[in-house]
Amino acid sequence: MTEIEEKLSSRIKQCFARSLHIRHVDSGSCNGCDFEITALMNPVYDIQRFGIDFVASPRHADMLLVTGGVTRNLEAALRKTYEATAHPKMLVAIGGCACGGGMFGDTYAHLGGVDKILPVSVYVPGCPPRPQAILEGILHAIERAHELESSRKGNGAYAARTSNV
Ligand code: SF4
Repeated sequence: MTEIEEKLSSRIKQCFARSLHIRHVDSGSCNGCDFEITALMNPVYDIQRFGIDFVASPRHADMLLVTGGVTRNLEAALRKTYEATAHPKMLVAIGGCACGGGMFGDTYAHLGGVDKILPVSVYVPGCPPRPQAILEGILHAIERAHELESSRKGNGAYAARTSNV
C-alpha cells in the first residue's frame, strides 16, 4: 500500500466505521475525469479494499465526487443531489472543469465551476487528474470533515493533517 492508501484506509476506519459511500455526479464533463474515477475500481487501485464503494443514491452517500463544470440543464439536479446527500455532505470537485469551469468558462449553457452553486470541500485539479490525486482528494475531504466536526464538538484541533497537496 502507498502512504496515501494507508492513511485513507485508517481514516475510513476511524471516521466512517470502515465504510465510505460515494455518489459520483457528472454535471457536464467530457468523460475524461469519469474514466479516471472508474479506474479507481479496477484491480490496480481496487478502492473497495479500503471500504469505499460507489452508490446510486445520494441518500446512501457520505461524499459527492463531481466531474465537469455545471451545465445549466444539470444545475437543478446537482443541487437536489447535494441536498439529499447525508451529513457531513463532503463534495470533492474532480478536474479543472469542476474546479473552475475549465475551457468552457461561463457561457449561455454553462455556469462554470461547481463552487458557483455549492460549497466545495476539496478541489482536485488536472485534465483529467490521475487516480492517485483523486484518492488524495478523498483523503483531504475526510480529514477536513473530521476537523470541522471536532471543532464543532469542542474537542480541540484535529492535528492529524498529514498530506501536503
Ligand atoms: S477537466 Fe479535462 S478531462 Fe475533466 S471534464 Fe474537463 S476537459 Fe474533460
